Amino acid sequence: MAGLYIHIPLCTQRCSYCDFFSTTLLNKRVELIDALCKEMKMRAHYLPVDGNVLETIYIGGGTPSLLSSSEINILIDCALDSFPHVDTGKMEITMEANPNDLSDSNLKELSGTAINRLSIGCQSFNDTTLKIINRRHNAEEAKNAIANARKYGFNNISIDLIYGLPSQTIDSWKDDVATAIALKPNHISAYCLELHEGSLLTKKISKGELTEMDEADCLTCFKHLREATSASGYEHYEISNFAQKGFRSRHNSSYWHDIPYIGIGPAAHSYDGVSRQWNVSHLPKYLKAISENRLDTEIETLSVTEKYNDYILTALRTSDGIDFQYISNKFGTRFSDLAKEVAAKQQKDGNVEIIGEKCHLTEKGIFISDSIFTEFIVVEE
Ligand code: SF4
Repeated sequence: MAGLYIHIPLCTQRCSYCDFFSTTLLNKRVELIDALCKEMKMRAHYLPVDGNVLETIYIGGGTPSLLSSSEINILIDCALDSFPHVDTGKMEITMEANPNDLSDSNLKELSGTAINRLSIGCQSFNDTTLKIINRRHNAEEAKNAIANARKYGFNNISIDLIYGLPSQTIDSWKDDVATAIALKPNHISAYCLELHEGSLLTKKISKGELTEMDEADCLTCFKHLREATSASGYEHYEISNFAQKGFRSRHNSSYWHDIPYIGIGPAAHSYDGVSRQWNVSHLPKYLKAISENRLDTEIETLSVTEKYNDYILTALRTSDGIDFQYISNKFGTRFSDLAKEVAAKQQKDGNVEIIGEKCHLTEKGIFISDSIFTEFIVVEE
């Protein structure tokens, strides 16, 4: 299997915590759609030939919900024309959406496209918090968006939440989690706030205008999220992801299991099993390159050690964990022996559980996952 990511780098305003590549150059929209389609044709032979066919398409951003349904159709048709793929009825085709783009009329149009999964950027259900992070929707709009999406036939809905935000407290986070669960999304992605250099939020915090949540409270928020989602039947299948049975994100799962993927659009990353590529993070430069029939891309060929480290850093985040046999086959016995040695030590400390050829983090390990990843990864000499 393989996945296709299409990046729509357009936003009407910038959220204060964001470091994704996006721009408010909305007047480039028509040119962008043409360029994305052209890049798909240029990358038509990117996937390794040994049975790698598209099973998932993920239209992310930025704000893909700014596009019209006819633009979405153009992108999906172009993807299906460009790459080998499974039956469209068997594909997972996701689009990220801002809650206040999901009006009745937009949802009606969207329901006529091949999109069968929506990832709605709620982030919080608290209006004060939403204002602080400069989201353009309010809590009511987020709740309505989920209910409306269902009304128009979207039966696979994921929502994004963030904890650790300025103004958030453990109690307000508990309210967010309770509201989220009451809305019964099929999937929840919840991330701890990361402060990125240069973001508006980082600047305000460094000037003392806002205060971030401390680490101990963030951990309490995470523990509560795990308990509350588990009590409501969600499976904690990746450190930041929770799913009802049968609703794991198939697209993201391919990133976590060393499966090739194609990234289209400015700043998008691709991986063919041997090297990583990433497109220039600049819309005018991206458009210029594509108009000249070239890709403005950097390529990094991965050493075996880098591939092993990437595998550890992604697979160990999941409840499936790492597989020693896979490591041995793919990277060699030197790496599987090393991984087994570290795993045995971590098992004694109660941080991982080893079952046959597999090893995954325990609850104790999940809370200190960063330090466990460090034990497993190999530093190249
Ligand atoms: S809508 Fe998404 S991509 Fe755009 S600024 Fe906000 S978080 Fe970033």
